[in-house]
Amino acid sequence: MLKPIATVITLLLPAFTHSAEDRFAGIEVQAQRVSGSVYMLTGAGGNIGVSIGDDGTLIIDDQYAPLAERILSTIVEIGGARPKIVLNTHYHGDHTGSNAFFGTAGTIIAHDNVRTRLLGGDGGDRAALPVVTYHDRVRVHYNDDEIDVIHLPHGHTDGDSVAWFRNANVIHLGDHFFNGRFPYIDLQGGGSVTGFTANLQTVLDMVPADVKIIPGHGPLADAEDLRENLGVIKATAAQVTRALDAGQNVDDIVAQGLAGDLEDWGSGFINEERWIRILHADHTAASSVRN
Ligand SMILES: [Zn+2]
Repeated sequence: MLKPIATVITLLLPAFTHSAEDRFAGIEVQAQRVSGSVYMLTGAGGNIGVSIGDDGTLIIDDQYAPLAERILSTIVEIGGARPKIVLNTHYHGDHTGSNAFFGTAGTIIAHDNVRTRLLGGDGGDRAALPVVTYHDRVRVHYNDDEIDVIHLPHGHTDGDSVAWFRNANVIHLGDHFFNGRFPYIDLQGGGSVTGFTANLQTVLDMVPADVKIIPGHGPLADAEDLRENLGVIKATAAQVTRALDAGQNVDDIVAQGLAGDLEDWGSGFINEERWIRILHADHTAASSVRN
């Protein structure tokens, strides 16, 4: 028997309204101690850095809006509270999605271009916007640490920062580091491959050899992991550049694949083909600037 139309619509609606939520239904936000009172939280989206101490709770990035309550619960479980300070490493939604939730009670700090880009989307929710912005760097004195928040120009986007806990000897690299994977470089968002690799070298020259690194994506890392990551990015970029300069087209390069044992590197959000196409797009953009 045919169901009345109204019943069919009622049956369909929950599937529609819950689909965005369902994507996060099974996600647990888990905490891992990095050093002292600095933690890394993982769930879905960019890794979150947390500092808990006498001054209160500070977080770096906040994943997606549907995870906001779970992020807060995990912070409370490890002895923290609702964050007073939120640092954004860059504007992407998997790092700023819970800004509106945390921004009602906390102060959001980010690079100038993060605020500009968040405003540019849909005008932006006021609570989700950074209220303190900077051009080059800012130092946050919190929980007996000095946290240097340093802008790295035109790398993953045009508004990336790293957050370096000088006393805890921990640095959060945002999406300048996809540990063990090919990175995403947002060319439309002001990123570039040349800037990205130069920025990684800047970080390696800046931090102590025994620094602990919270990557934007992937497991907790050290300087050796970052050095390996930079090596793979430079080698694969050089291979694609050589092939393009020799007159090969991008589809041929994709068909041939990259040299080296890099299967695992393409297992994330950016597979080998997407990485090659990013390198090609960046090369094309750089060539048009030169000509
Ligand atoms: Zn990103």
